[in-house]
Amino acid sequence: MRAEDRLKKAIERLKALYGPLSPPGDVSDPFKVLIRTILSQNTSYKNELKAFRALEEQVGIEPERLASAPEEDIARCIRPAGQHRQRAKRIKEVAKLVLERYGGNLWGLLRNKPVLEAREELMSLPGVGKKTADIVLLFCARKPVFPVDRHILRIASRMGLLGPRVDYDAVSELAIRALKPGDYLFAHLALIRLGREICRPRKPLCQACPIRDLCDMGSGAQRVGQMAYAPAKPIRSGQPLR
Ligand code: SF4
Repeated sequence: MRAEDRLKKAIERLKALYGPLSPPGDVSDPFKVLIRTILSQNTSYKNELKAFRALEEQVGIEPERLASAPEEDIARCIRPAGQHRQRAKRIKEVAKLVLERYGGNLWGLLRNKPVLEAREELMSLPGVGKKTADIVLLFCARKPVFPVDRHILRIASRMGLLGPRVDYDAVSELAIRALKPGDYLFAHLALIRLGREICRPRKPLCQACPIRDLCDMGSGAQRVGQMAYAPAKPIRSGQPLR
């Protein structure tokens, strides 16, 4: 089966299993989504949330407040996310640039610019790469982009969807070819949930995996009788999604 068809089938199955999924937090404010995604880079969900909440409570996640706040105050709040000094500097710079370029409001950029142009502009902000820009575009404005995180990369690689070419662009482009734009958000969230609960970095629970027959690694393990993975566990509800 073609990679596009396998991915499409996998997402249909996850849709039946998970039902509708929503992005975490408030997506009505693109600046907050931007800062939260910057905080999420290379850290756990728990620490990202701790840092985000402290910043919200103690400084306020608004361009004006962050641009005028002392860097040390920002750094202290976001310490749980790691690399706090470097990130504080970036966050302050981002806030200043958002104020200068967009008057503190990113909606004009998201709504009025062509998607690729808006993506480029977001990526010109310090600390904002493809994933962060795509998350803001998809979560807030439902633009037709497909953000790829480490869980999605891992699943694509294990499923054997792209051979050795498993990188951000290849996976993102495959998802865009395979799925309808209206399914991008669900697919992104569903694959992350699958990656956290079943297709974990270590000891993936292939026996409990709903897309095992579509996966090279899972079906290969089944064929040769390699059932060395940990036994199936039920999916935990209430797991935070990102
Ligand atoms: S079958 Fe195993 S390796 Fe494949 S997606 Fe499922 S958990 Fe991951």
